[in-house]
Amino acid sequence: MKICSISQFGLLFHLIQQQGYKILGPKMQDEAIVYRELKSLEDLPIGWMDEQGPGFYRLKRRQDLAYFGYNLGPDSWKRYLFPPKEKLWSAKTQGHKLAIYEEKIPEEKMAFIGVRACEIQAMVVLDAVFQHPLATYTQYQQRREQLLVIAVNCTTAAATCFCSSMDAGPEVKGGYDLALTEIIEGEEHYFLVQEGSLKGKELIEALHLEEASQEACQKGKERVLETEKKLQRKVENQSVHEVLLESWESKRWDEVAKRCVNCANCTMVCPTCFCSHTEELVSLDGQHADRWQTWDSCFHLGHSYMHGGSVRASAQSRYRQWLTHKFGTWWDQFGMSGCVGCGRCIAWCPVGIDVTEELTNLKKDFDEKHR
Ligand code: SF4
Ligand code: SF4
Repeated sequence: MKICSISQFGLLFHLIQQQGYKILGPKMQDEAIVYRELKSLEDLPIGWMDEQGPGFYRLKRRQDLAYFGYNLGPDSWKRYLFPPKEKLWSAKTQGHKLAIYEEKIPEEKMAFIGVRACEIQAMVVLDAVFQHPLATYTQYQQRREQLLVIAVNCTTAAATCFCSSMDAGPEVKGGYDLALTEIIEGEEHYFLVQEGSLKGKELIEALHLEEASQEACQKGKERVLETEKKLQRKVENQSVHEVLLESWESKRWDEVAKRCVNCANCTMVCPTCFCSHTEELVSLDGQHADRWQTWDSCFHLGHSYMHGGSVRASAQSRYRQWLTHKFGTWWDQFGMSGCVGCGRCIAWCPVGIDVTEELTNLKKDFDEKHR
């Protein structure tokens, strides 16, 4: 473990820029912390934090100048690995033939700064979907391969977080090039830095960072443990698969459907939701067509449209599909949960529907049935 002063952190930022990476990280925009391109360290939300609850998100000033003193905003890194809208290929007529051109992604290396433990797990979940040997999303794979991940251990928890239940945080355990822990104590402000790859090791060596003392390392561990104790929500992940599969006919779906407005916000902010649809845009002369891929949601009526109508025509069935897939059948499909406990779907649901509450209610009914 190394120690990195604030000025050395600035040097790290420049070094990553010099190596040709486009740096993406947290930035304040429209009263939220979102992930955008960072031109300098000053773009970070220095001294800001967020307060979150069901259907609630506000920014407020911190009493210190922490660089990563917030939790999570509505954005996830999904928007850069699997963009909301992307051209996949084009077709042009050439005489009586049709030529197909695969869309090339820009040869731009991306560095993500400020990636939380749950967000690294979300990338693992997306990898299983998009790097499946039978159906690889090549653009995703190319972006993923050249990615530099600078992770940050969480030293603060939002009221909506439940990463610990999903075994996805708050401690960063792998999948990073460098992992930082921000320490602020009185006048002292520095980062503990852990290397996680050869790329990370080379960055540390270039900066000549010094070894952190045992005392500093201990402080870093304590900060993360304290964060874990602050988590207020939980999910019984061991039993959730069984509970959901037995809850198909539950009356709870009717109750949640009375509140759910089918806005699809929960799926848009979720770092692991991967549904999309494709459409062809054809020129008026019929000589040229582009195929676009756009994020979609299982909350949209058209998403389950098959000949004659939608398979999931009711709001109950759409919510049931989302929750059952995310926490239950994702295990059957990918061998892992589709949820990482980031809590975004709770904060950004306009009517404050809380997945942890819904799952707790279903578990209560399940336990009563099996008593
Ligand atoms: S389901 Fe909700 S808590 Fe789980 S990963 Fe998606 S947005 Fe985060
Ligand atoms: S659960 Fe909430 S966020 Fe999701 S579709 Fe329903 S109202 Fe929108």
